[in-house]
Amino acid sequence: MLTAVVGINWGDEGKGRMIDLLAGQYDIICRYQGGNNAGHTVVNDKGKFVLNLLPSGILRDNTINIMGAGMVIDIGHLCEEIKGLEKKGISINPDKLKISGKAFISMPFHSQQDIWEEERLGDSKYGSTRRGIAPAYGDKYMKKGLRMGDLLEDKTLGQKLVSLVEWKNLVLKGYEPQMGKIGTIDADVIMDWLEGHGRFLSPFITDTTNFLANAVNEGKNILFEAQLGALRDIDYGIYPFTTSSHTLAAYATTGAGIPGLKLDGIIGIMKAYSSCVGEGPFTAELYGNEANDLREAGNEYGAATGRPRRVGGFDVVASRYGVRMQGANQLALTKLDVLSYMEMIPICTSYEIDGKKTLDFPSGDALTRAKPVYEYMEGFRADISTCKKMADLPIAAAKYIQFIEDAVGCPISYVSVGPGRGDYFIR
Ligand code: GDP
Repeated sequence: MLTAVVGINWGDEGKGRMIDLLAGQYDIICRYQGGNNAGHTVVNDKGKFVLNLLPSGILRDNTINIMGAGMVIDIGHLCEEIKGLEKKGISINPDKLKISGKAFISMPFHSQQDIWEEERLGDSKYGSTRRGIAPAYGDKYMKKGLRMGDLLEDKTLGQKLVSLVEWKNLVLKGYEPQMGKIGTIDADVIMDWLEGHGRFLSPFITDTTNFLANAVNEGKNILFEAQLGALRDIDYGIYPFTTSSHTLAAYATTGAGIPGLKLDGIIGIMKAYSSCVGEGPFTAELYGNEANDLREAGNEYGAATGRPRRVGGFDVVASRYGVRMQGANQLALTKLDVLSYMEMIPICTSYEIDGKKTLDFPSGDALTRAKPVYEYMEGFRADISTCKKMADLPIAAAKYIQFIEDAVGCPISYVSVGPGRGDYFIR
């Protein structure tokens, strides 16, 4: 069984929590894109964990975790993440974690470049996490960089680095007229960084393509774990306020290492309301007290950066689009419990663009002109966090789920009513 678990919205849908729950049914969990710019929060019997790079299956004893070729990896961050988990009693060894030699290394100068670029842009900044993801992917596609497998090649690593740093210093010089003197990257410093972390990580670096091909032949169950959501996909999201990789399920097998395989299922994780971190068009955005109350109720602060997230009501237009782009065949609705305090629940049921109502998610300038059309449904005003089946829910909550399911045109199979592993039911 090959299943992708992907975000339907702007990210932060609670994928980590659903993957942690589903992981028990899978032998292997693969991360296939992205870097340490997003974070999954997982709460289980071992405690609360924020994972930026490691696949969420790392918290299970018998699950093998793959970091695929589609990822960009800040090796310093990864070492810290592994050591942090080990301190909390989670043991990690090369049988449990396998890192693709083809994954790209995100360097300290990528984060620095990200920071400079955001500062240079001033008010028109992207709202990047400043962790170097866009510069790293940019360099990857210009074929200027090192991959995890290079860390295993002592004889050529230094040579490759010197040539890379020579080029990067030329590029970064371009910032000086605006940013003042920025100095040059010292290849020796980067070399120490690479060697230090490389020594720690080298036992984990392997040919994950072969490993996965064998696993598929043996009939293993594999789950593909995405970071962020459909609306952050580099091609189909709210460009340029997207991430720099493919967050769609269609990329899962490619980014993980077994391109060409057909997925058996795509589970879309969709939140009962909207949240969006960073800049860019966010049509359903709520403001003032309505927003503050929802942000507090949902604890909507970035897992990676602590930034307050922008929030809004459930967005039918964006979610329908997200479901279609992901090709989801079932959905998990998360954070329904957060809406318990509301008298009336706001839902953005369509957009109005240049005086015309639409259900089609627009792109480019049309998206920035879109205004939300809001309708309200009766709130359920009850603690639903212990509900274990549909019949336990207040009628208003059941109606809300049915409305959303009809609106996005995909069955909601899981309903999550709290952050803990057991706080959900199957519909
Ligand atoms: P991800 O990146 O998609 O994994 O999402 P995040 O980890 O950034 O955000 C999800 C947050 O919501 C985490 O703090 C989860 O523990 C929490 N969470 C997930 N599902 C639920 C739910 O159904 N109810 C509540 N109250 N919290 C949830």
